[in-house]
Amino acid sequence: MVRPNFATLEDAPGKVKVLAFWCLGILAFWHFGFSILDFAWPRGPPSGALSTAPRSCYDATRKGGEPKIQNLQSKIHRHLPKLGQHFLHDQGYRARILEALPLHPGDLVFEIGPGRGAMTTLLAGRARKVIAVEIDRALAQRLQEDFPQGSHVEIILADVLRVDFAALCRGEGVAQGFIFGNLPYYITSPILHHLFAQRDSIRAMGLLMQREVAERLTAAPGTRDYGYLTIATQVCSQPQITLAVPPGAFSPAPKVQSALVTFRMKAKFDRWPRTTCDEFLDFVKRCFAQKRKNLLNNLSSVYSRRRITQALEEAGKPANLRAEQLSTEELAGVFEHLTRSREN
Ligand code: SAM
Repeated sequence: MVRPNFATLEDAPGKVKVLAFWCLGILAFWHFGFSILDFAWPRGPPSGALSTAPRSCYDATRKGGEPKIQNLQSKIHRHLPKLGQHFLHDQGYRARILEALPLHPGDLVFEIGPGRGAMTTLLAGRARKVIAVEIDRALAQRLQEDFPQGSHVEIILADVLRVDFAALCRGEGVAQGFIFGNLPYYITSPILHHLFAQRDSIRAMGLLMQREVAERLTAAPGTRDYGYLTIATQVCSQPQITLAVPPGAFSPAPKVQSALVTFRMKAKFDRWPRTTCDEFLDFVKRCFAQKRKNLLNNLSSVYSRRRITQALEEAGKPANLRAEQLSTEELAGVFEHLTRSREN
């Protein structure tokens, strides 16, 4: 056996040192490089602008769409937990979710996080067009390959929190679209707020989320789950838990139960213009700022204590009430009284 005639790397000749350096470099890249690239690239375009990723389509009349997705899945093995990637692999639940969506055949559908396309093909078969927004570059590219040019599925590589749905609707010549998403659970609340802020461009939605969050959206006053998110949701829409989905329907299985929530985008207070509605939501946020404090204390930085007590009295409520003890209508009554007395 040939033995090197040096004991440590320090004694080795220059060429050997360079070789050892390269070997170590390649090994280090193999270990860490790919995950660093994975981390750096999937975040979509850095400018925040909507990436006009190549347009592509899928012909819903084509036979065998579902097996094609299966092939696609077998090509992509990895998943990124930090992007909330739990893919819907159960065919039965995919069909049940589709059936539960209040979709119209003429709808423009925006899909949030199409992933490997588990629902994209099915949605395309029921709607006029699907625009799917995916943040993971590798997945978006695979979908791009799977939905070739000229059909009615378009893949956009972008962060959904930066997507301007009104602009997309205008581009398609429609006033409103339908939103579907098996949501990345780590940003469910920011997505909901982003969607509610753009509610004028949304006809209806079907969103798959963690069951606990679904219960908060539909909670009744006085319960533990009732809070700002409940009221924001119920002011902008009529939410309904439509389907329970167990962890086993996903791959990898999440640690939590899931539920499909459908939303009819109908404002609760028709009498208010959009600006008043937004002011009311700011007011509600303040009411719930510190859950353990009562309304008087939470609001006293903005309104005088006398006015708040008066407003509560007018609503027939004691001054020491906490926000969670009032229904949305009662909070709206207090808000209207306070804003009216500000005007006088
Ligand atoms: N729709 C697929 C399904 O049902 O199998 C995947 C759903 S998976 C729970 C969530 C998807 O959202 C992933 O594909 C993930 O990459 C994507 N995603 C995560 N954060 C996102 C973001 N900010 N904008 C757009 N897509 C995002």
